[in-house]
Amino acid sequence: MSDDSQAPQAIVIGAGIVGLYTAYYLRQAGWRVQVIDHGEPGMGCSAGNAGALSTASVAPLGLPGVVRQAPRMLLDPDGPLSVPPHYWLAAAPWLLRFVRASSPEQVAAISHALKQLLAPAIQHHQQAMQDLGESALIQTTGQLHVYPDEKAAEKDSGGWALRRQHGMHIEKLNQEQIRDLEPQVGPHYRLGYFMPDQGMVVNPLRQAQVLAAGLAARGVDFVRDRVTALQAEGRRVTGVACTQGTHKADHIVVCAGAWSAGLLKGLGYRIPLETQRGYHLTLAHSGIELRRPVVAADRKIFATPMEPGLRLAGTVEFGGLERGPTARRVALLQKYGKLIFPDLNPAAKATSWMGHRPCLPDSLPILGPAQSFGGLWFNFGHGHLGLTLSAVSGELLARAMQGLPPAIGLAPYAPERFGAQAQALGRPQSH
Ligand SMILES: Cc1cc2nc3c(=O)[nH]c(=O)nc-3n(C[C@H](O)[C@H](O)[C@H](O)COP(=O)(O)OP(=O)(O)OC[C@H]3O[C@@H](n4cnc5c(N)ncnc54)[C@H](O)[C@@H]3O)c2cc1C
Repeated sequence: MSDDSQAPQAIVIGAGIVGLYTAYYLRQAGWRVQVIDHGEPGMGCSAGNAGALSTASVAPLGLPGVVRQAPRMLLDPDGPLSVPPHYWLAAAPWLLRFVRASSPEQVAAISHALKQLLAPAIQHHQQAMQDLGESALIQTTGQLHVYPDEKAAEKDSGGWALRRQHGMHIEKLNQEQIRDLEPQVGPHYRLGYFMPDQGMVVNPLRQAQVLAAGLAARGVDFVRDRVTALQAEGRRVTGVACTQGTHKADHIVVCAGAWSAGLLKGLGYRIPLETQRGYHLTLAHSGIELRRPVVAADRKIFATPMEPGLRLAGTVEFGGLERGPTARRVALLQKYGKLIFPDLNPAAKATSWMGHRPCLPDSLPILGPAQSFGGLWFNFGHGHLGLTLSAVSGELLARAMQGLPPAIGLAPYAPERFGAQAQALGRPQSH
């Protein structure tokens, strides 16, 4: 390998899919990169997601009318959204911001900013996986969303209108056409929307492991430790303190998913990052063969054909980072799995999992340089789209860190949109 001892040096905090892609593009640019995580690469939220590469998801979660719909969802014990009573007070400030971000004007701007990130997403994944010799991890067989009827679909009409407005390719299907595409979808579902341009990752954990192994082989240093604080000298971040020692670098990138806001508190940042806990059930020998992700859109449950089996994933549960999983949320996946696929084998060997989606109230990530500290960079908060957006946001950030002209402007993703800059603001810092 060429001598890169003079190359710029970066520490990436977090070896989830976002941190790994960030490290990948920095290493491609010739930087010396250290990735620090207390766990194995990919074992955070990135381990168990639904694998969907949802490049048409230009609609934020908070759409106009969300205030009217939310109470009904919250009162339904089987509903896809759950805010347990003990967490109401903690969630309230985030929920208020969420509602504020759902005005028509805000939604138009958010949707545009999402589209900018989403448009090249599949191509980025394909190129990287090809580079690492694992092209087959990415499949582009489309995505099928199904509803029981028009009335159920009507609740999501705002999201579908936005997708159409942005020129997404959507085919409306009747029951027979749904069956033609996916014969094992049950009779409860009679209306579908097929998006042929969408993709999937057939094993998100293995994808993260492929990236980590490829990076290690190319000289990226993986450190197994927990970051306890970011260290600054004046207005420049210079390193990180970990449980077992400290590490110094010219540039520090925060990619710690749902834990990122906690890490930044010590520098004075107050970022409205909330975890939306999601669950999966992966069934080996399910008896169901799909060609693509099928989304039971009335229940917000994804069913994805994966290497380890059929994965049923979904639900949004507030409840913070500390509490353990709620068994009932997993049971719901089982219950509705059988409604979506009546042939589902009840004896299939199942593994269940809970992950922490890192969510900001406006459904956009925080991506780009810190204004208040030199040497500090952000790439976190990708919410429900973290797998989809990971490669694109990794590349965008790596470009910005090299001082290259940005492919798109990063202003919509800055933490300052929440008034979240470090409290004792000085002049903006050079990076
Ligand atoms: C049920 C479910 C289904 C989903 N389905 C999809 C989907 O189909 N498509 C899609 O695009 N997205 C999906 N997502 C969202 C996606 O999985 C996440 O947005 C994404 O994984 C976030 O990646 P990340 O790298 O930011 O975070 P993580 O994967 O959580 O990685 C963060 C890493 O930081 C490390 N870390 C945290 N604190 C510290 C510290 N102090 N020191 C050192 N290391 C630290 C953690 O150990 C972890 O490894 C889904 C999520 C869930 C829960």
